[in-house]
Amino acid sequence: MVLADTLATLECSIMNDLSQQQDTHEFIHTIDNKGRICFVNHAWINFAAENGWSVSTEEIIGSNLMANIVDPETRHIYNLLINRAREEGQNARFDYRCDSPDCHRLMEMRIYHNQDSDEVEFRSRIISSVKREPIALIDPTHKHRSDEILKMCSWCKSVWDENTWIELERAVKQLGIMTDQVLPRISHGICNECSNRMTRMIENL
Ligand SMILES: [Zn+2]
Repeated sequence: MVLADTLATLECSIMNDLSQQQDTHEFIHTIDNKGRICFVNHAWINFAAENGWSVSTEEIIGSNLMANIVDPETRHIYNLLINRAREEGQNARFDYRCDSPDCHRLMEMRIYHNQDSDEVEFRSRIISSVKREPIALIDPTHKHRSDEILKMCSWCKSVWDENTWIELERAVKQLGIMTDQVLPRISHGICNECSNRMTRMIENL
């Protein structure tokens, strides 16, 4: 089973093209004390189906969350968050970008630990959603990709260009990749700003 690069990306890939009504849903997944996904709610599964990702609950359940996070720093941050929740009862809350091709979307994630079951629950919801001109670069159905790799922050969707991180909308204009063409592949990581933001947040838990 192929899962997305990061947890945030995983959430993104199943939430494209949400309707207004669906925007009110919370998307929940839970991991057990071995880090395996042990629960996803119907909203989570339904979005997967609506977006052409025909994944069943049976396929998701039992998969290891951390094994699917490619970027080491992002993996490290999630491990810290999970450990703080599990060992110190510190629940985290943070925002992240989770765009669909035609929508600028800000999400909130909350992380809780259930002491009785020793499970950690991740609850995401949409904070804001603003339509904009579609960006093919982040369209998972756009298969016409070159071997060029473009680094993108999983947390804020900024794009790395030579020596700086550029906000997504500005980057596609600046780099001339708004139109339907052969596009670079995306490699997910974390930008300096998000790394600092998340580190500070964890320190202050
Ligand atoms: Zn970022």
